[in-house]
Amino acid sequence: MGPRRWLSSWSVFRQLTGSDPLGRGEAARSRRSAELAARTAGADRVAKSVCPFCAVGCGQRVYVADDRVLHVEGDPDSPISRGRLCPKGSASTQLVTGPQRAQKVLYRPPYGTEWQELELDRALDMVVDRVLDARDKGWQDVDEHGRRVRRTLGFASLGGATLDNEENYLIKKLFTALGALQIENQARI
Ligand code: SF4
Repeated sequence: MGPRRWLSSWSVFRQLTGSDPLGRGEAARSRRSAELAARTAGADRVAKSVCPFCAVGCGQRVYVADDRVLHVEGDPDSPISRGRLCPKGSASTQLVTGPQRAQKVLYRPPYGTEWQELELDRALDMVVDRVLDARDKGWQDVDEHGRRVRRTLGFASLGGATLDNEENYLIKKLFTALGALQIENQARI
């Protein structure tokens, strides 16, 4: 390597002798940084989503390559978060792709000591059966004064803080339609 080329490998030399005296562009770029590419560069499509972690509901852009989530970033179009994500939301990629993510429905029957794997359709059928059964068992057509109430005391809903407005709206609608009275959310308690 000649002396000129050797000196050019120093960013301060490039800064003092080149067209970037403030050292914010060309002068500061190393060969390694020139070879780097954005984590989103290999994406073949981008889906809009909402961060699942808390009720703020920050907007997300989910970068996908070959049907796998490549990276998740804040969505600048979101009026709520305007492109920002907190550290938790920035880790959403791991929520989807992490090795600890459960990929199967797990069921532990009454008095069981081991988890059993279930098909999703079978699990949903079991949930529906239990909801209808509890609704019927707790159903009241009239109260103790003979007034028509047509409600069930067989179940209640208690939402957590990860639910955002839209999800709470749908849950309230569903449970009210089923005849439930006790519909609450952690944020109100
Ligand atoms: S966890 Fe962070 S990024 Fe996700 S919705 Fe809440 S504040 Fe936004």
